[in-house]
Amino acid sequence: LRHLVLVLGDQLDLDASAFDGFDAARDAAWMAEAAEESTHVWSSQPRIAFFLAAMRHFAEALREQGRPLHYRRLDDAGTAASLAAQLRADVQRLRPSRLVLTRPGDWRVLQALQAVADDAGVPLELREDRHFYTTPADFAAHAQGRRSLRMEFFYREQRQRHGVLMDGREPLGGQWNYDVENREAFGPQGPGFDLPRPPRFEPDTLTRDVIALVRERFGSHPGRLDSFAWPLTRAQALQAMEAFMRERLPLFGPYQDAIWPGEPWLYHAQLSAALNLKLLTPREVIAAAEAEVRAGRVPLASGEGFIRQILGWREYVRGIYWTQMPGYAQANALDAHEDLPSWYWSGDTDMACLRDAIGQTLAHGYAHHIQRLMVTGLYALLLGVEPAQVHAWYLSVYVDAVEWVELPNTLGMSQYADGGLMASKPYIASGRYIDRQSPACRSCRYRPEQRTGERACPFTTLYWDFLLRHEARFARHPRLAQQVRNAARLDDAERAAILAAAKTLRRQR
Ligand code: FAD
Ligand code: SF4
Repeated sequence: LRHLVLVLGDQLDLDASAFDGFDAARDAAWMAEAAEESTHVWSSQPRIAFFLAAMRHFAEALREQGRPLHYRRLDDAGTAASLAAQLRADVQRLRPSRLVLTRPGDWRVLQALQAVADDAGVPLELREDRHFYTTPADFAAHAQGRRSLRMEFFYREQRQRHGVLMDGREPLGGQWNYDVENREAFGPQGPGFDLPRPPRFEPDTLTRDVIALVRERFGSHPGRLDSFAWPLTRAQALQAMEAFMRERLPLFGPYQDAIWPGEPWLYHAQLSAALNLKLLTPREVIAAAEAEVRAGRVPLASGEGFIRQILGWREYVRGIYWTQMPGYAQANALDAHEDLPSWYWSGDTDMACLRDAIGQTLAHGYAHHIQRLMVTGLYALLLGVEPAQVHAWYLSVYVDAVEWVELPNTLGMSQYADGGLMASKPYIASGRYIDRQSPACRSCRYRPEQRTGERACPFTTLYWDFLLRHEARFARHPRLAQQVRNAARLDDAERAAILAAAKTLRRQR
């Protein structure tokens, strides 16, 4: 055997760089379902099922292409528990002269596979992942000499470099960013009956087998599988993308930050999982969105807002990940050491906004960005949960969770654990913010405007507690000083009441 081409669960692309020069007469692909990938964090059932089912469908696509494949199923007798152990055994058996791998999405996996190759004395050829617009080296060059790494400058560079939404040298429409036109809440009537329903992909036989396997092997893991309907093949992913462009992108911008209990999808794309497993390329998604804008079917503000998430945020967090790892995973700038409340794994809480966000997360493996950042993430930040535990939760529960994208979003953007490398300030807010974005407070036993007392909203209590606890740290912070000054004006009795109420909340697990 000449090349053994390693294909990981998030590399399901027939055109991946690892396949360049693939010769079916001399090379073979290798895939393995390793239990450790589902247990190193307590991975949810939807996430495990999504990865395994997509891998098995991709294996079929490889076979249809006539590419020889060594595939180890989780339920095959003798399958090793870890990717590294399985690879070690297969390298001994198959004796390839070289291992070829597209850069993986997880630093830990790269180290483990490299160690196997080194021990076996077989060269591992690491190829850049051309799925992305930028390589880690490109990002390092962009970052060099900059004191802060704000996404907006990076994004503008990307637009120019790749000619996306450009009008010659100028941004289309004259502005780089149209967010002032975006970000509305729904009116009191809610999103209404016209809310488009995203396509569902009913599990086929292969997926039903995977679902049964996950129930059997990982039945104690969080999450449910009864409404599992994610796109699992490239054809399904393309169908999901087209439906989004037609039905939801026009209103994506205005309702990007809105929350409506019981409505998990709203106008979001739900394409992150397909993108992260490489069933879709960012180039085709961006080209499709730009075409809708140029054809006049989608307002520029919506199209630009959507494209910024992919060409800007998605590329930028990957750059942060590869330039900051491995130290990044241990960052804890706010010195937060509380345990994650156990109800994060069940949704069993009286807080209506959290119950809704966690409930849909466990049911579907999905929550949209503002729920992740300003509901589940915000509460963990205000409570002072140890960032590593918050990271483990986000990596477990979402079908789109792969470490390169999950870790910077959690540690940097949501928990401010990197001390401001990514975010210009901690994203803190009281219950009033959630009250503006969502009607959840109306059906909650707490009151968003109250910071102490029987019906005080825990977000509001903890918001003031955060400002008091971090007074010294943020007193001169340009974007937080005003909020810190407001807290400093509280009298002693009020301060004591807030601190006591926060302490009580920290005892509730
Ligand atoms: P849309 O809202 O429709 O956005 C369109 C696309 O833009 C997404 O499909 C995604 O590919 C990209 N995108 C949007 N925001 C981001 C972002 N901040 N970073 C990177 N890409 C982005 N995204 C993941 O893909 N995997 C994760 O594990 C993940 N963990 C997160 C953890 C936290 C704490 C937070 C605050 C955000 C996280 N995100 C993660 C980013 C974002 O929330 C999801 O990409 C988005 O909610 C996916 O849903 P969607 O496809 O409907 O996205
Ligand atoms: Fe959430 Fe507080 Fe509103 Fe209840 S009152 S839904 S806890 S923000």
